[in-house]
Amino acid sequence: MSGHYLALMLDEHGVHGEFGCDEPDSAPCHQWCEYGCETGCHHPRNTVEKCQPLELLESDGSDWWDSYIGPDCEPRSGPIIFEWSDDYYAWRYEEQENNGEIEKETMT
Ligand SMILES: [Zn+2]
Repeated sequence: MSGHYLALMLDEHGVHGEFGCDEPDSAPCHQWCEYGCETGCHHPRNTVEKCQPLELLESDGSDWWDSYIGPDCEPRSGPIIFEWSDDYYAWRYEEQENNGEIEKETMT
């Protein structure tokens, strides 16, 4: 079960999405390279307070749907999985995890 989720909220301005993280501090998303590498390095890790995929997604100013990489589906709140995609984090719904696609680096 993923500790990451998307919460959708509809109001008069539209549909807002908010990503959340329930992972403990020991989870991979709270471990960050001492040298600031974004992924794939073997440097020592620092424990950071803020979930790193969340931090990056929030800081790049894009809308919650911009980084969605799963198949077409109805938008909904629910558990999600972050995937590193070249130089940014993308996400998909958790239950779409094993749909025959090539294994990528995932952060649950
Ligand atoms: Zn997290």
